[in-house]
Amino acid sequence: MTGPVVILFGPPASGKSTLSEQLVAKRNARLFRLREYVQSLPEAETAVLKGTSRDSLGWLPDDIATQLVHDAISGPFQPGETPVVFEGYPGNGVQSRHLADLLTRLDVSATVIHLRADWATALQRAQLRRVCLHCEPTATGQPHKPAQVTTADTCARCGNTLLQRQDDNPDRLSSRTQRFTSRLPEIYTALTGHGIPWRTVDSHPPACEVLAVALDAVSNCPSTRSSQ
Ligand SMILES: [Zn+2]
Repeated sequence: MTGPVVILFGPPASGKSTLSEQLVAKRNARLFRLREYVQSLPEAETAVLKGTSRDSLGWLPDDIATQLVHDAISGPFQPGETPVVFEGYPGNGVQSRHLADLLTRLDVSATVIHLRADWATALQRAQLRRVCLHCEPTATGQPHKPAQVTTADTCARCGNTLLQRQDDNPDRLSSRTQRFTSRLPEIYTALTGHGIPWRTVDSHPPACEVLAVALDAVSNCPSTRSSQ
């Protein structure tokens, strides 16, 4: 039986990471994040990607992003017994059509969970979020994964001083949110046009209700399109 693919979207700081990590913990899902996938590639490949021009928000060109996703789905993220969660991907209509075509060809069913968060909530969440340069050393010097914060505002794992994620400063957060909002209609059209069901969930409180919807989406997602 082929586990479903869950496409998890939401504006920055809407709680995607938390939700996808819960799906990993509770459904043994495999989590695809383009950024982390790129970092996991052999050095020769990442070196090539380093020479690629990214846009102002750090995005790879579509032809490269879609090739990477194609490779990932043919490799470590091949749909199988456990669900695959695509977090924050696809990012536009081109990427959406590519992914939907790929899943259709593989006869894999997919479902979309769109976390909706208002700007005030997202901004507040982003302001509280911290990252640890010591626990997540990166080539760019810009750690991304939220760290566990102690009451003394240090890293719960290593005790070092934490930083705010560069992407979370209000200007950058606002640009990223605007981009998400502007691309959402074309993503919606492309994915639902391929028959992929779409659920919008308020990411506001309580986290357990959001999780319940997500778990339901995973369980109710038929194993293959043909069984729909
Ligand atoms: Zn740390």
